[in-house]
Amino acid sequence: MSKGKLFIISGASGVGKSTVLSCVMAQRSDLRFSVSATTRAPRPGEVDGQSYYFVTKETFLDMIARDEFVEYDAHMDNYYGTPEGQLNEKLETGSVILDIEPNGAFLVRQRRPDATLIFIAPPSMEELQRRLIGRGDTTPEQVKLRQERARWEMEQSAKYDYVVVNDQVEACADKILKIIAEKAD
Ligand code: ADP
Ligand code: 5GP
Repeated sequence: MSKGKLFIISGASGVGKSTVLSCVMAQRSDLRFSVSATTRAPRPGEVDGQSYYFVTKETFLDMIARDEFVEYDAHMDNYYGTPEGQLNEKLETGSVILDIEPNGAFLVRQRRPDATLIFIAPPSMEELQRRLIGRGDTTPEQVKLRQERARWEMEQSAKYDYVVVNDQVEACADKILKIIAEKAD
């Protein structure tokens, strides 16, 4: 049995997952972040091997063929997947947070029913749009794709164990920290 617990965080692009998770991780140095592989291009400030493993489509398809993913999904014109090796290694040392979308979250839950699924919701769809555009690193076409997907993602939130609204970053992080403390400590 692995030592740690799994926490899955989902939420529409731009809702503030990375921002809130940085706050969560800063307060719990024992938590590890599962680094996904993706075929999308890095955004300014994203570091290969920390934010994601940025790979070509060819490499991603090779990884699928070698059965290296716990789950993967194609959305918004790119592939995203959770490499199993790094996840298992991290689980040996403690609890792990995954930032993945609902399809991946439900696949992981099938394999690991003890996983805790937390959905981060925006205060409103208008505020979500403001944040996504305000981040300034997403083209108008990508914004449109992400908004279309956001509606579907919000519908999936009913299947999550917890829904937390990201109104204020610290307050949202505190609620997530409380859930983690209840389950992992
Ligand atoms: P995600 O990882 O979900 O795509 P980000 O963490 O990149 O989202 O956040 C998207 C934008 O919204 C960033 O510019 C971030 O600073 C901003 N943001 C995040 N949380 C809040 C909040 N509670 N209030 C206002 N702006 C926020
Ligand atoms: P972004 O391109 O904004 O970083 O991420 C887009 C979406 O992909 C987000 O909803 C994020 O949670 C999801 N995502 C990131 N990594 C993975 C992964 O490994 N698997 C799945 N299924 N989704 C992921």
